[in-house]
Amino acid sequence: MTAQIIDGKGYAAGLRERIAGHVARLKAEHGITPGLAVVIVGHDPASEVYVSGKAKQTLEVGMHSEKYELGEDTSEAELLALIERLNFDPAIHGILVQLPLPRQIDPTKVILAISPNKDVDCFTPASVGKLQIGLPGPVSCTPLGCLMLLRDFVGNLSGKHAVIVGRSNLVGRPMAQLLLRENCTVTIAHSRTADLPNIVRQADIVVAAVGRPLLVKGSWIKQGAAVIDVGINRIPAPEKGEGKTRMVGDVDYASVLPIAGWITPVPGGVGPMTIACLLANTVTTASLINGLAPPKDLTP
Ligand code: NAP
Repeated sequence: MTAQIIDGKGYAAGLRERIAGHVARLKAEHGITPGLAVVIVGHDPASEVYVSGKAKQTLEVGMHSEKYELGEDTSEAELLALIERLNFDPAIHGILVQLPLPRQIDPTKVILAISPNKDVDCFTPASVGKLQIGLPGPVSCTPLGCLMLLRDFVGNLSGKHAVIVGRSNLVGRPMAQLLLRENCTVTIAHSRTADLPNIVRQADIVVAAVGRPLLVKGSWIKQGAAVIDVGINRIPAPEKGEGKTRMVGDVDYASVLPIAGWITPVPGGVGPMTIACLLANTVTTASLINGLAPPKDLTP
């Protein structure tokens, strides 16, 4: 027996098609074109790649896209002024400020400046609170993507024990909230967790969001468990040539594959879902801002 491979890339392509359908309907029936503004400050190469991908996919699903590329020496006041302008811009329904930001800018101040109505990354305290008490609104993109994959591939999650390794505001914590809403029993593990392998061994669902290459081993996995690998790490790949690297997750894929029931590969698993869910969140906020119910298939 080997695990069923969860094809996040394929699922994300289908999700983008559905999003394009919702965008077309919002335009035709309500005259609304969902708009996403992406702001990048400085020249972090990884961030530049992400931002270009986001802008491209926004246009592909028929949305309005704005990209702001600000210099490394941009002041906090300048960035806050731009966010304030976007908060009041009726063509924009989602604002994403790509992190990390240069030193002179306090990321917390920036996050707090984004209107919760346009907070498509689900970073503001208002969005986090809404997620916790189950009010409609955007949901953190990567956990939303993981949930969609789990529902589609595994099915009913109720009563399952989910162990989430990692407690970041970006992934671990919102993932826990979403799985709790699915009636899972949720354990959150972190760097101070004692006997992590034994905790993970009890899980029907494992979500690894740690940032440690190949940490989760096959010997930690219960037979038939669903394993969702959020990690994106680069490790040396001498077989590809000197100085070359390859991308791996937080899960030791080769040792987990024969034991798990389902597994997401890296790349091609969770990664492609994150941008697709950003677009889904922009449809959600565009709907809510205009007093419409967001499409059910794009929300938890
Ligand atoms: P993060 O903010 O660095 O959080 C990492 C978490 O892992 C922390 O809670 C930390 O515990 C815990 N941790 C670290 N070492 C550990 C260990 N040895 N055992 C158990 N727990 C440990 O990272 P993040 O932003 O959540 O991202 C996690 C990974 O997902 C990264 O590889 C990142 O690149 C990737 N990621 C991928 C996507 C995607 O689209 N696929 C999106 C976002 C992130 P403490 O809290 O105790 O420090």
